[in-house]
Amino acid sequence: MPKILLVEDETTVRETLALNLRAENYDVLTASDGAEGLRLAREAAPDLILLDLMLPELDGLSVCRLLRRDSDVPIIMLTARGTEMDRITGLETGADDYVVKPFSLGEVLARVRANLRRARADGRPAATRLTAGDLSLDLLARRVYRDQSELKLTHREFDLLAELMRNQGAVLSRDLLLNRVWGYDYVGDSHTVDVHIRWLREKIETDPSAPQRITTVRGVGYRFEG
Ligand code: CA
Repeated sequence: MPKILLVEDETTVRETLALNLRAENYDVLTASDGAEGLRLAREAAPDLILLDLMLPELDGLSVCRLLRRDSDVPIIMLTARGTEMDRITGLETGADDYVVKPFSLGEVLARVRANLRRARADGRPAATRLTAGDLSLDLLARRVYRDQSELKLTHREFDLLAELMRNQGAVLSRDLLLNRVWGYDYVGDSHTVDVHIRWLREKIETDPSAPQRITTVRGVGYRFEG
Protein backbone atom coordinates (compact mmCIF):
# COMPACT_ATOMS: atom_id res chain seq x y z
CA MET A 1 0.00 0.00 0.00
CA PRO A 2 1.70 3.26 -1.09
CA LYS A 3 2.33 5.67 1.78
CA ILE A 4 1.38 9.30 1.22
CA LEU A 5 2.36 12.23 3.40
CA LEU A 6 -0.09 15.12 3.27
CA VAL A 7 1.17 18.45 4.61
CA GLU A 8 -1.66 20.97 4.77
CA ASP A 9 -2.60 23.49 7.46
CA GLU A 10 -6.23 23.99 6.43
CA THR A 11 -8.10 21.40 8.47
CA THR A 12 -11.00 20.94 6.07
CA VAL A 13 -8.76 20.45 3.04
CA ARG A 14 -6.45 18.11 4.98
CA GLU A 15 -9.23 15.95 6.35
CA THR A 16 -11.13 15.76 3.09
CA LEU A 17 -8.04 14.81 1.11
CA ALA A 18 -6.92 12.27 3.71
CA LEU A 19 -10.35 10.66 3.74
CA ASN A 20 -10.44 10.34 -0.03
CA LEU A 21 -6.89 9.06 -0.30
CA ARG A 22 -7.63 6.41 2.32
CA ALA A 23 -10.73 5.42 0.37
CA GLU A 24 -8.36 4.77 -2.56
CA ASN A 25 -6.34 2.44 -0.33
CA TYR A 26 -3.40 4.71 0.36
CA ASP A 27 -1.71 4.73 3.72
CA VAL A 28 -2.00 8.42 4.70
CA LEU A 29 0.10 10.41 7.17
CA THR A 30 -0.76 14.03 7.84
CA ALA A 31 1.05 17.09 9.13
CA SER A 32 -0.37 20.57 9.68
CA ASP A 33 2.80 22.63 9.46
CA GLY A 34 6.01 22.60 7.46
CA ALA A 35 8.36 21.60 10.27
CA GLU A 36 6.27 18.58 11.21
CA GLY A 37 5.93 17.72 7.52
CA LEU A 38 9.70 17.74 7.08
CA ARG A 39 10.20 15.59 10.17
CA LEU A 40 7.61 13.03 9.04
CA ALA A 41 9.00 12.99 5.50
CA ARG A 42 12.39 12.00 6.90
CA GLU A 43 11.16 9.55 9.51
CA ALA A 44 8.36 7.76 7.68
CA ALA A 45 9.87 7.64 4.16
CA PRO A 46 6.59 8.18 2.27
CA ASP A 47 6.20 7.13 -1.38
CA LEU A 48 4.75 10.52 -2.29
CA ILE A 49 4.23 13.90 -0.62
CA LEU A 50 1.35 16.31 -1.13
CA LEU A 51 2.75 19.61 0.07
CA ASP A 52 0.83 22.83 0.58
CA LEU A 53 2.72 25.97 -0.44
CA MET A 54 1.61 28.33 2.34
CA LEU A 55 2.29 26.67 5.67
CA PRO A 56 3.07 27.80 9.22
CA GLU A 57 6.56 27.22 10.70
CA LEU A 58 8.21 26.37 7.40
CA ASP A 59 6.66 27.11 4.01
CA GLY A 60 6.18 24.45 1.36
CA LEU A 61 8.98 25.66 -0.92
CA SER A 62 11.50 25.49 1.93
CA VAL A 63 10.34 22.00 2.87
CA CYS A 64 10.70 20.97 -0.77
CA ARG A 65 14.18 22.45 -1.08
CA LEU A 66 15.37 20.80 2.13
CA LEU A 67 13.95 17.41 1.15
CA ARG A 68 15.54 17.54 -2.29
CA ARG A 69 19.02 17.56 -0.76
CA ASP A 70 18.74 13.88 0.00
CA SER A 71 15.49 12.52 -1.45
CA ASP A 72 13.85 12.09 -4.83
CA VAL A 73 10.42 11.25 -3.38
CA PRO A 74 7.68 12.55 -5.73
CA ILE A 75 6.36 15.89 -4.41
CA ILE A 76 3.11 17.45 -5.58
CA MET A 77 2.70 21.07 -4.51
CA LEU A 78 -0.75 22.31 -3.53
CA THR A 79 -0.99 26.01 -4.16
CA ALA A 80 -3.74 28.51 -3.55
CA ARG A 81 -1.91 31.11 -5.54
CA GLY A 82 -2.90 30.63 -9.13
CA THR A 83 -0.37 32.76 -11.00
CA GLU A 84 1.85 30.93 -13.43
CA MET A 85 5.01 32.25 -11.79
CA ASP A 86 4.16 30.60 -8.51
CA ARG A 87 3.58 27.29 -10.22
CA ILE A 88 6.91 27.44 -11.97
CA THR A 89 8.74 28.46 -8.82
CA GLY A 90 7.34 25.32 -7.26
CA LEU A 91 8.59 23.13 -10.08
CA GLU A 92 12.05 24.69 -10.14
CA THR A 93 12.42 24.08 -6.45
CA GLY A 94 12.31 20.39 -7.16
CA ALA A 95 8.60 19.62 -6.96
CA ASP A 96 7.43 17.08 -9.53
CA ASP A 97 3.98 18.45 -10.05
CA TYR A 98 1.46 20.92 -8.70
CA VAL A 99 -2.27 21.41 -8.39
CA VAL A 100 -3.92 24.77 -7.92
CA LYS A 101 -6.65 25.31 -5.34
CA PRO A 102 -9.54 25.08 -5.57
CA PHE A 103 -8.89 21.64 -7.06
CA SER A 104 -11.23 18.76 -7.65
CA LEU A 105 -10.58 15.54 -5.74
CA GLY A 106 -10.52 13.69 -9.04
CA GLU A 107 -7.69 15.90 -10.26
CA VAL A 108 -5.58 15.35 -7.13
CA LEU A 109 -6.14 11.59 -7.19
CA ALA A 110 -5.18 11.46 -10.87
CA ARG A 111 -1.95 13.37 -10.17
CA VAL A 112 -1.13 11.11 -7.24
CA ARG A 113 -1.60 8.01 -9.38
CA ALA A 114 0.44 9.44 -12.26
CA ASN A 115 3.33 10.50 -10.03
CA LEU A 116 3.46 7.18 -8.20
CA ARG A 117 3.41 5.35 -11.52
CA ARG A 118 6.23 7.53 -12.85
CA ALA A 119 8.32 7.03 -9.71
CA ARG A 120 7.91 3.28 -9.97
CA ALA A 121 8.81 3.37 -13.65
CA ASP A 122 12.01 5.31 -12.89
CA GLY A 123 13.22 2.58 -10.60
CA ARG A 124 12.29 -0.30 -12.84
CA PRO A 125 14.12 -0.91 -16.09
CA ALA A 126 11.15 -2.77 -17.63
CA ALA A 127 9.11 0.42 -17.98
CA THR A 128 10.96 2.06 -20.82
CA ARG A 129 8.20 3.32 -23.03
CA LEU A 130 6.28 6.58 -23.12
CA THR A 131 3.16 6.69 -25.23
CA ALA A 132 0.60 9.33 -26.15
CA GLY A 133 -1.95 8.63 -28.86
CA ASP A 134 -0.12 7.21 -31.87
CA LEU A 135 3.24 8.48 -30.58
CA SER A 136 5.55 6.09 -28.79
CA LEU A 137 9.02 6.59 -27.30
CA ASP A 138 11.34 3.71 -26.55
CA LEU A 139 13.57 5.23 -23.87
CA LEU A 140 16.17 2.46 -23.89
CA ALA A 141 16.60 2.19 -27.64
CA ARG A 142 16.04 5.97 -27.99
CA ARG A 143 13.65 5.45 -30.87
CA VAL A 144 10.41 7.27 -31.62
CA TYR A 145 7.50 5.87 -33.54
CA ARG A 146 4.39 7.44 -34.93
CA ASP A 147 1.90 4.71 -35.77
CA GLN A 148 4.36 2.03 -36.84
CA SER A 149 6.87 4.23 -38.62
CA GLU A 150 10.02 5.48 -36.97
CA LEU A 151 10.70 9.21 -36.73
CA LYS A 152 14.25 10.53 -36.99
CA LEU A 153 14.91 12.76 -34.01
CA THR A 154 18.18 14.29 -32.91
CA HIS A 155 19.54 13.56 -29.44
CA ARG A 156 18.20 16.88 -28.06
CA GLU A 157 14.84 16.55 -29.77
CA PHE A 158 14.46 13.12 -28.24
CA ASP A 159 15.31 14.32 -24.72
CA LEU A 160 13.06 17.33 -25.09
CA LEU A 161 10.12 15.22 -26.25
CA ALA A 162 10.70 12.70 -23.45
CA GLU A 163 10.74 15.46 -20.84
CA LEU A 164 7.53 16.97 -22.22
CA MET A 165 5.78 13.59 -22.39
CA ARG A 166 6.80 12.66 -18.85
CA ASN A 167 5.05 15.81 -17.68
CA GLN A 168 2.02 15.50 -19.92
CA GLY A 169 -0.55 18.19 -19.13
CA ALA A 170 1.82 20.38 -17.11
CA VAL A 171 3.26 23.66 -18.35
CA LEU A 172 7.06 23.60 -18.40
CA SER A 173 8.93 26.90 -18.56
CA ARG A 174 11.73 27.45 -21.08
CA ASP A 175 14.24 27.75 -18.25
CA LEU A 176 13.10 24.51 -16.69
CA LEU A 177 13.39 22.70 -20.04
CA LEU A 178 16.79 24.28 -20.64
CA ASN A 179 17.99 23.01 -17.26
CA ARG A 180 16.57 19.53 -17.57
CA VAL A 181 17.38 18.83 -21.23
CA TRP A 182 20.52 20.87 -21.85
CA GLY A 183 21.85 20.80 -18.30
CA TYR A 184 22.55 23.48 -15.74
CA ASP A 185 25.98 24.22 -17.17
CA TYR A 186 24.67 24.89 -20.67
CA VAL A 187 25.61 28.34 -21.91
CA GLY A 188 22.76 29.56 -24.02
CA ASP A 189 19.40 31.26 -23.77
CA SER A 190 15.84 30.03 -23.72
CA HIS A 191 15.49 30.85 -27.43
CA THR A 192 17.30 27.54 -27.95
CA VAL A 193 14.25 25.79 -26.53
CA ASP A 194 11.91 27.60 -28.95
CA VAL A 195 14.02 26.55 -31.91
CA HIS A 196 14.05 22.89 -30.87
CA ILE A 197 10.33 22.94 -30.16
CA ARG A 198 9.81 24.21 -33.71
CA TRP A 199 11.92 21.38 -35.15
CA LEU A 200 10.14 18.85 -33.00
CA ARG A 201 6.76 20.09 -34.17
CA GLU A 202 7.85 19.66 -37.79
CA LYS A 203 8.33 15.99 -37.01
CA ILE A 204 5.47 15.07 -34.70
CA GLU A 205 2.63 17.45 -35.54
CA THR A 206 0.13 16.82 -38.33
CA ASP A 207 0.10 20.56 -38.99
CA PRO A 208 3.19 22.19 -37.41
CA SER A 209 1.67 25.67 -37.86
CA ALA A 210 -1.31 24.67 -35.71
CA PRO A 211 0.28 22.34 -33.12
CA GLN A 212 -2.02 20.01 -31.22
CA ARG A 213 0.50 17.98 -29.24
CA ILE A 214 2.96 20.59 -28.01
CA THR A 215 1.12 23.81 -27.29
CA THR A 216 2.61 27.19 -26.40
CA VAL A 217 1.41 28.77 -23.17
CA ARG A 218 2.08 32.43 -23.82
CA GLY A 219 4.63 34.03 -21.57
CA VAL A 220 5.17 30.77 -19.69
CA GLY A 221 6.38 27.85 -21.76
CA TYR A 222 5.16 24.66 -23.36
CA ARG A 223 2.77 21.87 -22.57
CA PHE A 224 2.50 18.36 -24.00
CA GLU A 225 -1.19 17.72 -24.53
CA GLY A 226 -1.04 14.07 -25.56
CA1 CA B 1 -2.00 26.65 3.55
